[in-house]
Amino acid sequence: MKELMHGKVKTLYNTDDATTVLIKYEDKVTAFDGKMVDYPKDKGATCCLISALLFEKLTNSGIKTHYLDLPSLNTMLCKKLTVIPVEVICRNMAAGSIVKNTEGLREGMPLQPPIIEFFLKNDSKGDPLLTEDRVRLMGVDPKPLKDQALLINDQLQVLFNVCGIVLVDFKLEFGYDHHGDLFLADELSPDSMRLWGRDNERYDKDLFRKDEGDIVEAYKVILQKLRQFA
Ligand code: 5GP
Repeated sequence: MKELMHGKVKTLYNTDDATTVLIKYEDKVTAFDGKMVDYPKDKGATCCLISALLFEKLTNSGIKTHYLDLPSLNTMLCKKLTVIPVEVICRNMAAGSIVKNTEGLREGMPLQPPIIEFFLKNDSKGDPLLTEDRVRLMGVDPKPLKDQALLINDQLQVLFNVCGIVLVDFKLEFGYDHHGDLFLADELSPDSMRLWGRDNERYDKDLFRKDEGDIVEAYKVILQKLRQFA
């Protein structure tokens, strides 16, 4: 298979069908633009299985996602898309960069209604915060991205809520297919979400960022809860 792109923790391969790609989730975790790296066993499969389960749930509720099939535990068959270089962040509670880069917001403060932010997807430029006008100037209409992110948030909140998990925030990426239709792309895993237990336990990549625990063990708890309750 021909490698199409090597991301930080995922590798994309072309398939025999020009409309699909294979995405392999590697046993690798990075943080702070790749300055922190580790290679935990089973991490790729755990993220892949969580992503597949969540993509399937969203598809069943009418959201268009790039997910097609799960040919192996750590590989996903997906629709080939032209990915929009904008990271769409949805926040239900204050944490991370919004606390760091504003004043008066405490970690864990509810953000009701949830807020949507846009960041440039470009590591070499440090993924800066974008305004909606800047997104528009990049030739991208922010409205459907925002509308989809809020719909996805509604669905994911229900799924995590029944698992006893609080969905604090998450990052989405979107892309267009060859007809110009918008699809949810990338992954939906604890690598790109903040997931807190009701007693403030952490089940996401902050464990790695802050060196506070075993991420694979935590991600496996999320997978098991989603399989059991969602
Ligand atoms: P923050 O803006 O607080 O750093 O991140 C908000 C949410 O988006 C967090 O759940 C974080 O994991 C996710 N996120 C933001 N940027 C990235 C990124 O470049 N990669 C990944 N995997 N997640 C991101």
